[in-house]
Amino acid sequence: MIDWNLSFDIAALFIMVLVFIWYYNEKRIPLISHRAFLVFMGTCFAATGLEVLAVQLAQNIEEMGYDSFYTVFTMQTLAFNLVPVTLAYYMLLLAHVDINRHKLLHNFFRFCIAVNVVVALVNLKLQWAFTFENGTYKVNYAGMVLYVIDGIMVCICIITMILAKQNFMFLRMIPIAFTLICAIVFCIAEIFYGYPMVNFMLAAISLTLYYYQQNSGKVIDAVTGQYNRRFMGEYLQNKYIDQTEFGLLVIAMDDFKFVNKMYGVENGDHLLYQIGHFLEKMKTADIVFRFGSDQFWVILDKNIDAMTETAESIQERFRHPWYSEDQSAIMMSASICCVECPKDAESYGELIEVIDYSMSMAKKTHKGLITYTNEIDLDKIKLEKAIEKAIKLAIDRDELLVYYQPIFSVKDGVYNSAEALVRLHDEELGWISPEDFIPIAEKNGLIVEMGEMILEKVCKFIHDFKISETTVEYIEVNISPVQLVQRDFADRVKKILEKYEVKPDQINIEITETATMNVVSTVSENINSLVNYGITLSLDDYGSGNANIDYINHMPFKIIKIDKYIIWDSFKNSKAGITLEYTIGMLNALELFIVAEGVETEEMKTQLAEFGCHFMQGWLYSKAVPDTEFVELLQAKA
Ligand code: C2E
Ligand code: CA
Ligand code: CA
Repeated sequence: MIDWNLSFDIAALFIMVLVFIWYYNEKRIPLISHRAFLVFMGTCFAATGLEVLAVQLAQNIEEMGYDSFYTVFTMQTLAFNLVPVTLAYYMLLLAHVDINRHKLLHNFFRFCIAVNVVVALVNLKLQWAFTFENGTYKVNYAGMVLYVIDGIMVCICIITMILAKQNFMFLRMIPIAFTLICAIVFCIAEIFYGYPMVNFMLAAISLTLYYYQQNSGKVIDAVTGQYNRRFMGEYLQNKYIDQTEFGLLVIAMDDFKFVNKMYGVENGDHLLYQIGHFLEKMKTADIVFRFGSDQFWVILDKNIDAMTETAESIQERFRHPWYSEDQSAIMMSASICCVECPKDAESYGELIEVIDYSMSMAKKTHKGLITYTNEIDLDKIKLEKAIEKAIKLAIDRDELLVYYQPIFSVKDGVYNSAEALVRLHDEELGWISPEDFIPIAEKNGLIVEMGEMILEKVCKFIHDFKISETTVEYIEVNISPVQLVQRDFADRVKKILEKYEVKPDQINIEITETATMNVVSTVSENINSLVNYGITLSLDDYGSGNANIDYINHMPFKIIKIDKYIIWDSFKNSKAGITLEYTIGMLNALELFIVAEGVETEEMKTQLAEFGCHFMQGWLYSKAVPDTEFVELLQAKA
């Protein structure tokens, strides 16, 4: 010990001081693991510093006396043996292991710390851990116990890293593992050969951990100086693990693209910086994140009660101009959404969904206003997601079913056609109504693929069951407006028909009138192409919504299907009865065929036939049934 080479220790101290300076000069990372890192660094620093001091004392033991040496060296032993404990604790935090909730682990850590402290204190008097005589240092039994604890702690570190590698913040496992292994090797080298590199390796570990796990440069957004989105995920996931309550304000700039376009990206960045700075300076805001290009997320911890106030003062700030770098005033508005966690969102994943939903709603209808997520129907979002999943699954597994509902011809007294209606069954949700899943499939675009699958099934049915040999002349297929705006829609339909050798007049497509229909030219191109090919066209749900007579006049419809609600209403209300009678008269004068939907009674059938409806569809005849049942139905009727 007397001729111990201190150069490595001094170099280690130098590196650690440097890391301390960096740590304090940068924005703090508000996680407990960050504090645990500081404790780890502190113990490394103390162990190294005390070792330098102890060696100095040992070299001048005659002058300084054994007591002062023992005191310092005992403290050094304590600090040194606490290093693996603090490191293991830190590693567990990085891996999101909540030590306080694992009672056994928690007590084990306490026990190890207690053993360290007791051994150190006892050693001052009894020297059970180590002795220092005639310039040599000897480890005794209690010292061995400390080594065992160190060994266990190192094992905990290694196991944690292996088991929870996906939890490490930046997934830079290799350098961390490398320095850890070096430290273990040098530790053995020091014990057996007196090679003085352990403290230097501790400095190397501190440096590596700082760089890969604690370096705030990796968690800060360069433009605004606020925490970035990647770190936000880490932070909020921790909050959910800790089960603490917190408030969250999402501030989304309205039309920020426009600001960037008008004033340039640099000014846009400057504005974002100012907004971030303003939010950070708010007394009630605990931490600010920049989420995506024009969104900030503000967390309220202690001040969760001041959520509304905070949201209002942010809104108030947006009533005044912001200034670009050249001091021109820029007015902007922001939509603010308030979330109380975990009340409004029980997990991080749910939180993202809830905010995604409420922000898209806010951008549509509440621009520049404050909204509260507790007002949105979480169950509805969940159900929508579940339905979306069910649709995808059914498409992947080819489990969509097509049922057929017969349509009765008054003139011929037979089923002259049928409507194909899609059916979806999910293991968890049971039967899902098309009224529920079609709008969702339209929203996410799945309807395109789904519609094609349905048409294929219909064509296969016409082909396989030789429908042309029955009274059924054609099958009506519902087509969504989303399908009609696809550029290649008509061509794909034709391909499917050809594949199954289905003649164009065996298919009729039903479309509903929507606002986009007249605007998008692709729609009329598709329709004209299909009609020229020989497919007939029906207008579905006539009378519901704003049916425009102009539409009937300018689109090549052959059949008009009167909405079932209009039909039902006409039997309850005499005025509605008169309008229906005249509507049917008008459609007849235009030489259009008319289908009455929702015919449930004999009385309805007789009356509607008298008014001039050509075809009847409804439960009086049959509900929509599977293909084989439908064929049986035809045979029974024949
Ligand atoms: P829709 O096109 O108006 O279809 C008629 C709906 O009325 C069907 O409901 C049918 O089962 C129901 N219906 C028929 N007769 C009666 C009756 O007498 N009484 C009562 N209470 N209901 C009757 P469904 O099958 O639930 O379909 C609902 C809607 O979902 C359809 O309304 C259509 O808009 C859409 N849809 C169904 N299948 C498809 C499809 O394959 N593709 C597309 N794009 N949409 C579809
Ligand atoms: Ca229909
Ligand atoms: Ca209809």
